[in-house]
Formats: sequence, structure tokens, C-alpha cells
Amino acid sequence: KEKVPSDIEIAMAQTPKLITQLGQEIGLIPDELESYGKYKAKVELSVLERLKHRKNGKYVIISGITPTPLGEGKSTTTIGLAQALGAHLGRPAFACVRQPSQGPTFGIKGGAAGGGYSQVIPMDEFNLHLTGDIHAVTAANNLLAAALDARMFHEATQSDKALYSRLVPAKKGKREFAPLMFKRLKKLGIDKTNPDDLTPEEITRFARLDVDPETITWNRVIDTNDRFLRKITIGQAPTEKGHERETGFDIAVASECMAVLALTTGLQDMRERLGAMVVATSKQGDPITADDIGVGGALAVLMKDAIKPNLMQTLEGTPVFVHAGPFANIAHGNSSILADRVALKLAGTEEGDSSDRVGYVLTEGASARTWPDATVIVATTRALKMHGGGPDVTPGKPLAETYTKEDLVTLKEGTKNLVKHIQNSKKFGLKVVVAINQFASDTPAELELIRQEALAGGADAAVVSNHWAEGGAGARALAEALITACETESHFKFLYDLNIPVEEKISIIAKEIYGADGIELSDVAKKQIETYTRQGYGDLPICMAKTQYSFSHDPKLKGVPTGFTVPIRSVRLSAGAGFLYPLLGDMQTMPGLGTRPGFWEVGVDPESGRVVGLF
Ligand code: ADP
Repeated sequence: KEKVPSDIEIAMAQTPKLITQLGQEIGLIPDELESYGKYKAKVELSVLERLKHRKNGKYVIISGITPTPLGEGKSTTTIGLAQALGAHLGRPAFACVRQPSQGPTFGIKGGAAGGGYSQVIPMDEFNLHLTGDIHAVTAANNLLAAALDARMFHEATQSDKALYSRLVPAKKGKREFAPLMFKRLKKLGIDKTNPDDLTPEEITRFARLDVDPETITWNRVIDTNDRFLRKITIGQAPTEKGHERETGFDIAVASECMAVLALTTGLQDMRERLGAMVVATSKQGDPITADDIGVGGALAVLMKDAIKPNLMQTLEGTPVFVHAGPFANIAHGNSSILADRVALKLAGTEEGDSSDRVGYVLTEGASARTWPDATVIVATTRALKMHGGGPDVTPGKPLAETYTKEDLVTLKEGTKNLVKHIQNSKKFGLKVVVAINQFASDTPAELELIRQEALAGGADAAVVSNHWAEGGAGARALAEALITACETESHFKFLYDLNIPVEEKISIIAKEIYGADGIELSDVAKKQIETYTRQGYGDLPICMAKTQYSFSHDPKLKGVPTGFTVPIRSVRLSAGAGFLYPLLGDMQTMPGLGTRPGFWEVGVDPESGRVVGLF
């Protein structure tokens, strides 16, 4: 067999088609396509209205077994499957993937454009600035941070009256509230429209947010793995003397603005969510939002273009939406709901269309409002052997022998992890197709063993797929199995009712999904749950912030751990994005760079002007 060239060699050898041509092929009208260069475009949300009458295409979620630190090919399988459906089986097929952060791209993990002959191109544009959405998120996040600190500074240095007359200045002798101020007046129960009518007591309540500095949860962000920004002191210039405060930077994609981008359903919804983001609690115990600070509208303006999904293509010329990429450590880690919705309409059918016209949307995301038709669980011999007792897999180090030679005993033990994932998906009523992502060193007996165990474990289908080495042709059988699985209806159900107590919701997830005996809340977590419930956020869904390397909170516990209790260290609120996230361990929100990061290899070829060294 021929050796498969490096990802960037494969990607650069293929000339993409013009994005305007792709737009036309998938049924967009010229007005709906906003080109960014030759090979990328934003898609106007007006397409949702134009195609409203269509029945959605099939909606498929791509997930995976508990991975090794090398990744098991979720992105690669999403792209390979889209190529198989779109370029080999003649179905409209859309892959919806996340935009990667620059942090990992220059760190150890590399980009996320897929791999081998299943990639998104141009991969350098995909992995770097794309159309600037992450920069927009950064700008919005940091405007809010600056607004908060400036407001605290002004409150600390001015009397109530002075503060009020600057917040509501007189223009031509007349004071007028800014439109957004009525929201705050309403929240405070002050039913007045003329700024001159407020009583001194009302002036104080209106003008003073009275932020309790201890409760601030809003950090600044930047899209670089910069460990030295994890903890900083701000306000050290002579002009802010006496108002210093310790804070920190997170990686840009960890911003709640990014989670909002991924979960929003439209411009007005995004505006409301951004304004509802909570940055701190007041000394009186009330949540302080972006709208209280007056910045919600401006945040929406900064992100008004970011909200449009980005269209790109696979190596085989099929469409890919690349949109949003919330940091999986503390958010849901999915691509955007809007990209999914646009794709579902473009893949959808008109009245009278035959069933073989229906298209497919393959997403690493999961919208609570659109029932999925099936889920694909990606498995590899490598990860399964690790769960079966194989030694640690470490990036940059050679793999131990069990991973490169046939080892049916270790592998069989490890398939228990896959079976637990299958059973978990079944709890949601999902159809399950297992994709066995083939590596060159896998043996036929190993691949067959995984297939048998997956079927015995309850999967609707289990298929070996070789899309990494062969592109879409290698995923043909997998695509056919997926089409069959989507032909019968699935019956999606939620795991818990949103209106049960927060603690109970967390406990259900821990027991049902992780297989834990129960949970143990720290005192801090108890207090936070109490506060958020009192403030009216108790009905939000839960997004567990935990290691992806184990079903448990401990990355060292492989396979299917039992007999453990999940410690909940703290619980945080994303009021705008709309979830609560319990922290199950030390979750890092600003990665660092190692001694030998990926950037050593990256450069520009002086002859062709092309990017080299991305992986
Ligand atoms: P995930 O999305 O699960 O993190 P990726 O799809 O990004 O995983 O794949 C992780 C890495 O493994 C990528 O560098 C990819 O090129 C490589 N890879 C994926 N599948 C295969 C395969 N079948 N053979 C060889 N390498 C693979």
C-alpha cells in the first residue's frame, strides 16, 4: 500500500473550487453568500426564512468513545462520512464542525481540519483566522471586561449625584435615559421615565451597581496559549492607583460570548443572551448583567457578522459549515446550532420529493431543539486497547507494542468502554451507528472483534471505515449503514426534567451517564447552587465541566469505572448561553505552551507563498 502523505501535503495538493460555485451547487442564491476571499463565505441567515417550508434533512450527531490524548478521529470521520454521502452516494451532505482555536493549532494538538484524505480545505485558512469570528468574540468579551472595571472605578471615585449626572447627562438642558437604561429601571422596580423624577434613594440604586469584587466571574480573553496571563494584577498605572485587582485571561474560545454564538438561534436572540450574561453579584446579592452595565447592544454589534455560518469545502468538494467552537473544558464544545439549522434546510426536501432526495447533516454539535435521527460513535483499536489496560498514550512518544500489533485480549476488555457509550446514547432514544476508524496497523480480526462487541452491546450497526487513507470511498459502507439507520424513526428523550433541583440534575447525569454511585458537593458548590437558584437560574440545563479522558472525574480511571463518587468542586453560571456548569476537577481555561510547540515547524514557503508545517 502507498504511504499516505502528511495532512498539509494532501490539503495543499488539492485546488479548492470557488466558493461561489459551491454556494450555487448547494442551492444558495447569490444574495445569500458573502465571500471572504476565494474559498470561504459567510451565509446570510435570511436563507432560513426562504427555505422555511422545507422539511429538514436527516440530523446526525458524531460522538466518540473516551479518547486518548491523540484524538480518535471524530473530526476526520465527520468529514469522511460527508464525502462518502456527498461525493459517492449522491446525497446532499453537510458537515458542521467547530472553528479551532489558535491555541492548540500552535501548541501540541495541531489543527482540527480532519486528517489524511478526509479534510476541510484550505486547511491553513480553516485553522487560523477563518473569517474573524474568534476575533469578534475576543472584542466583545474584552469590551465587557473593560466596561465592568471602568464602571467600578467610576463608582468608587464619585458621589451618587455626580455618578448619576454623568450616566444621564443633560443635553440642551434636558436629561434623557439611554434606551437600555429602561431595562435596569424595570429590574429595580422604578416606574419612571423622566430622569429628574427619581428620588435620592432611587438615584443611588440606579447609579450604583455595587459590584462585590469577590464575585466577579468575567475574565479577559486572548486566542493564544499564554500561561503567564493565567493570573494578573490590573490597574497598576498611577491613574488607577488604589483600584488594583487580581484577575486573569482565558483562551478566547472559553468566553461565554463563544458559547452564546454556538447556542443562539438568531440576531435578536443573540442580543438578548449577550445582555443577560452575568459578570458578578452585587453587594446586595443581585446578579449583574452586561445589560446592567449598558453594553449588551454593543456586544451584539461586535458579533453581528460572526453569527453567520462560514461555508468551506472538503477535499472532495462537498460543503462544510465551520462555525463557533466553545472550549470543551467548560462549555458544551459543539459547533453552532445556526449552522446546523441552515444545513438542515439546505439538505431538506420540498413537498413531493422522493425519500432518496433527502440530505444529511453531520454535526459535532447537538441542538436541544432539533431531534437527532442518529448518532455515530467513533471508535479506534488504539483507544479501546488503552481502556483494556494498555499503557498510557502520550503525544510525541512512540506507541507501546500492544497498539501496533494484534492484541485481541486487551482489545476485548476495552470494548466495554464502547458498550457503555452505546448504552448511554440509547438512554436518549438515539439510533447508534458505530464507526470503527481504521488505522494502518489494525488487523482484520481486531476490526471484526470490535464490530461483534458493538452489535452485541446494542448498536444498530457497526462498520469499519477507512476514510483517512481512502477519502469518501473508504466511508461508503459506513454511509450506507447510516442511511439505513435513519430510515426508521428515532424517539429522542431527555434524561431529566429541567425544573427539578440543580443537585438532582447533576446527580442523575453522574449516575446514569458516568456510572457513579453519586455526587458530593463542596460547601462552595452548595452555596453557589443556593445563590443561582435564588436568583432564578435553577431551571437551566447542566453542562458538566469534566475531563474527557474518563467516564469519571479522574482521567486515570479508564474503561468503565465503578464504585466512585463524583466530587463537585464548584458550580458556575453561563446565564446568557443558558446553562450551569459544575466543575469536577481542576479545569484549565488558559492552556500553556510546551517546550517544543507546533509553531517551530510553521512558516511560509518563499517560492509559492504557501503555509507549511501546520498539522
Ligand atoms: P478528534 O476530532 O476525535 O480529536 P481528529 O479527527 O482530529 O480527532 O483526529 C486526530 C488525529 O488523528 C489527526 O491528526 C488525524 O489526522 C489522525 N487520524 C484520524 N484518523 C486516523 C486514521 N484512521 N489513521 C491515521 N491517523 C488518523
